[in-house]
Amino acid sequence: MPVLRVALDLPLHRLFDYVAEAASTAEIGLRVRVPFGRGERLGVIVDVQDGSDWPLAQLKPAGEILRDLPPLPADFFRLCEFASAYYQAPFGEVLLQALPVGLKRLDPPTRRNTRAAKSTPPVAAPELTEEQAVAVNAIDPAAGFAAHLLHGVTGSGKTEVYLRLIERALAAGQQVLLLVPEINLTPQLEGRVRARFPDTGVVSLHSELAEAARERNWRAAFAGEASIVLGTRLAIFTPLPRLGLIVIDEEHDPSFKQQDGMRYSARDVAVFRAHQLGIPILLGSATPSLESWANAQSKRYGLLTLHERANPEASLPAVHVLDTRKMALQEGVSAALVAGIKERLARGEQSLVFLNRRGYAPVLACPACGWISRCTRCAANMVLHLADRRLRCHHCGCEHRVPKACPTCGNQDIHPFGRGTQRLEDWLKEQFPEARILRVDRDSVKSRKQWEVMLERIHGGEADILVGTQMLAKGHDFPKLTLVGVLGADSALFAADWRAPERLFAQLMQVAGRAGRAELKGEVLIQTEYPDHPLYAALVAHDYPGFAATLLKEREQAGFPPYAFQAMLRAEAPEMADSIAFLQAAAALPVIAEHENILIYDPIPMKMARLANLERGQLLAESYSRPALQAFLPCWREAIAGIKAPSKLRWHIEVDPFEF
Ligand code: ADP
Ligand code: ZN
Ligand code: ZN
Repeated sequence: MPVLRVALDLPLHRLFDYVAEAASTAEIGLRVRVPFGRGERLGVIVDVQDGSDWPLAQLKPAGEILRDLPPLPADFFRLCEFASAYYQAPFGEVLLQALPVGLKRLDPPTRRNTRAAKSTPPVAAPELTEEQAVAVNAIDPAAGFAAHLLHGVTGSGKTEVYLRLIERALAAGQQVLLLVPEINLTPQLEGRVRARFPDTGVVSLHSELAEAARERNWRAAFAGEASIVLGTRLAIFTPLPRLGLIVIDEEHDPSFKQQDGMRYSARDVAVFRAHQLGIPILLGSATPSLESWANAQSKRYGLLTLHERANPEASLPAVHVLDTRKMALQEGVSAALVAGIKERLARGEQSLVFLNRRGYAPVLACPACGWISRCTRCAANMVLHLADRRLRCHHCGCEHRVPKACPTCGNQDIHPFGRGTQRLEDWLKEQFPEARILRVDRDSVKSRKQWEVMLERIHGGEADILVGTQMLAKGHDFPKLTLVGVLGADSALFAADWRAPERLFAQLMQVAGRAGRAELKGEVLIQTEYPDHPLYAALVAHDYPGFAATLLKEREQAGFPPYAFQAMLRAEAPEMADSIAFLQAAAALPVIAEHENILIYDPIPMKMARLANLERGQLLAESYSRPALQAFLPCWREAIAGIKAPSKLRWHIEVDPFEF
């Protein structure tokens, strides 16, 4: 009797065997209903064999095999196998998380129409600049696997390069996967793609889509009916029968890294996938990740550069550093910035004030007794939101009404300390009563629809001053924006996380890049108490390569990635002592000594030690050899699973950890 080997969405590193009346290898890749425990589950048939390692009599019969979808292909299985092995994630979880919810239901889904969306008439393609043409011609679709990094300053026309390459792939009958960090933030890109290829099926795949739409789009992509798939990180796992090109826009963006469940980097999985299929991949950014930059420097990736803005009228903004130690500030704002905004108002141009901290103030405090608004569940302060009079924890989401008096001593004179975007907005309204001010952060923009409305208002010239967080930094073209002011960036210079400077530089370069996109010249004013910091000097000089070289040298000296390879074991439990004891046991496992070139650090509490009432610790494993680390991790993981731990303790391993 044939035996089905079935992958299930369970946190177990194994497949499950079921007997089937009649089944052949032709069924590999189909979904199947199987009994499990007292209930039933939906799995995917990974193999069909003659026998099993288990006695056949013990195996239960499989249920119905679903045939509404063609079998998932072998290259999709190989991609999931790679991700499972590399990230130490159970194969079944990897495989099933790649399917839309509707396809994981037990009840056979009704067949839906898989029509791909069509759209508007084309806008014309501009003539390529010389540098753009060089970039487009460097990528040879017939040459097999090659990874290219497209380093282009903001506004240099990277998107135009993508569009030309997409055009070529479509002409060759191929599908293209275009990954973007957060689709919500880039409706303009989606519009440009649809407008350029009006007769081509373009579908988007991201988590904000309604379930039915996501399933419809996924089916269209899998059936090969949609030739362009525009998606966020999870879309990298979509089976695509004719995939011929992968493009990753803003490849440095942290949202390509999934931070829960299976912790994977969509960018790295994408490079593997391109390699597996023997196709080109293009990574684009104005501020590439140091990993990609190092790969380009060592010639593992081809490097393509766009030095100048594509629009011949536009130039890069002039960046000035304002030394705030010598200035009297009002609500944290310098007279120079106020004067700059005034000038823009008089000329009918837009200004943007960037402060990457939402809310009114980061904390509420009592000067009489020293009480501050702490979250009772996390090692964090509650942020004051005056707009709706709430104290809110940005980590666990819990919230309270703002107290009228100090909860400890009853003092009625309690104060907000520091400032966030709401406070800045209030103050700017007082200073510029005639100006139309728009605040853009996750409190004012909660959905894609709200964001589109907001962008339309900005484009339609309905705003004079924008106040906002990093939401404003990404990929937008605001033609009337000529002034960017940056406040409160210094704290990231000295953060404990060694990736913080890389992130801050990218963020500031991106937000600065919003200014002067059209014929109007842009200006950027950065307020700082550290005007001589190399990060700011590099921004003034628009010198990404110089700054990247400095950071890479530091990383090399310190033995940090990309010069070392890391995996983080994290444990969380109601008591820190339990978390740390567990990590200590993991650090003492004999399996460590059996592997060469593995360095295990001491367990420590995480930087944010308590989150939602759980105390969290971490343990770093490191090696100068990726293969050595990869060989070690599955053995370590298995040994860790054998450690006796309190029932409420949870642990996971993150490979290439992102936050420290
Ligand atoms: P990036 O993605 O590098 O930030 P974009 O692709 O958004 O840059 O291009 C910036 C602006 O330059 C856009 O308005 C775009 O239409 C325009 N542009 C791009 N390529 C060209 C070109 N070859 N000639 C003229 N304008 C161009
Ligand atoms: Zn008090
Ligand atoms: Zn909290």
